[in-house]
Amino acid sequence: MDYIPCIGLEIHIQLLTRSKAFSGDCADNTSSPNDGISPYTLGMPGTLPRFNTQIIDYALCLAFACNAQIQHYSEFSRKNYFYPDLPKGYQITQNKFPVSTGGFINVHNKQGKAEKIALERIHIEEDAGKSIHQPEKNRTLVDLNRAGVPLLEIVTRPEISSPEMAYNFLYEIRKLVRYLGISNGNMEQGSLRCDANISLKTDKMTQKGIKCEIKNLNSLTNLKKALHYEIKRQRALLQQGRKVKQQTRGFNATKGITFAQRNKEKIYDYRFFPDPDVPPLKISAAKINEIKNNLPDFPETVYNRFRNKYNLSHYDAHLLSEDKDFARYFEKVATYTQNYKAAANWMLGKIKAYLNNKKISITQFHVHPKNIALLIGAIDEEKISHRNAVKRLFSAMLEFPDKSPGKLAEQMDLLQLSDEKILTQIVREVIKENPKKAAACKKGKKALTGMFMGEVMKKTQGKAHPQKTKKIINQLLC
Ligand code: MN
Repeated sequence: MDYIPCIGLEIHIQLLTRSKAFSGDCADNTSSPNDGISPYTLGMPGTLPRFNTQIIDYALCLAFACNAQIQHYSEFSRKNYFYPDLPKGYQITQNKFPVSTGGFINVHNKQGKAEKIALERIHIEEDAGKSIHQPEKNRTLVDLNRAGVPLLEIVTRPEISSPEMAYNFLYEIRKLVRYLGISNGNMEQGSLRCDANISLKTDKMTQKGIKCEIKNLNSLTNLKKALHYEIKRQRALLQQGRKVKQQTRGFNATKGITFAQRNKEKIYDYRFFPDPDVPPLKISAAKINEIKNNLPDFPETVYNRFRNKYNLSHYDAHLLSEDKDFARYFEKVATYTQNYKAAANWMLGKIKAYLNNKKISITQFHVHPKNIALLIGAIDEEKISHRNAVKRLFSAMLEFPDKSPGKLAEQMDLLQLSDEKILTQIVREVIKENPKKAAACKKGKKALTGMFMGEVMKKTQGKAHPQKTKKIINQLLC
């Protein structure tokens, strides 16, 4: 009997606002622990929250990108629980009335086909502080810099069918928030965090199986690994006729296994109630229109443009649209050349390799897009061989970014020899120098033409136009 996984994800996105969700305290939580926090972040009696309206813009932007239904009316609730990194004793979040409901995003599967992943909701909430556990010192430290930093939480429907699709979905979300400029999407720093719930069912079961929730998956790879492990674990239990316990589980990345943290037979009662200090959020049609009319490019729009306008393959379009700035550079090159495929090849080949090697981003790449287009043009017009462009001219362009590739090729004596008269003369010389081989070739030893080609290249330092040279050798020897 085989089992089908039902996976749902909850993704917390830390927003790039200057101040916190409900106070003016600095939202940059990377400074030294507990630096610059005020009575507001500490949740002192007498402090009152004030909503940071920048969050609305970010939430609407994300909702539009996710094809979600924006709610004109939403509410903030208190989620009550006790934890040392939660100074107020409750988290302000959205419960019954989130800022948007429904929606989907398209995720490409292995074959490059788009599959819709449906969302349940997107809501606004504040983050808790950070507990730094130091078991070796028998203590836990609390850093409240993060307490109150604004988050958007995306909850998917539990309909993701494989760890790979879950991975691809999270990958798309990370790309999306970076495109929108609402978060840095950095999973290692915790700016993007993921919890996954998973259950198994057989195709005969109408209801879902009992689910486990895996908390705090801090990388794309860990998400995939944890889900694979959990499928194996739950399947083994079910095959033995045993039950899956409803649990919250953690993931041990070193061992590659999930482990029970607490049983969840009873639903924990957070005693949600509308926060009396934060008025409901009413978003006007004018505000929604303002955001709608100023939306930045979505990754999917860029991907589709690369497929349709530039005729690129799924593979090229996917890789080129991975990063907003990288995509933008490609489009600049494409304004100067029609050979989009060559532009894609240069971007994904030599340029990407150079950036990786130097550990810099495309925004720090100092060669003008126009010069990349000119380089492509010089190859297409057969002024320079592709081989010499890759091996020598490109490095020279990095060194002298202000010079045009044509000028550089001339100075470096790389211009291809295309004049057929001169080429014929050189081929004749080579034949004269190798009379025996020439005779053998004429008698039918065709394999020897390669040797003549090599000699011509040697004489011309690789500058002889290969197709033309080949044609002349064939004419004179075959
Ligand atoms: Mn949450």
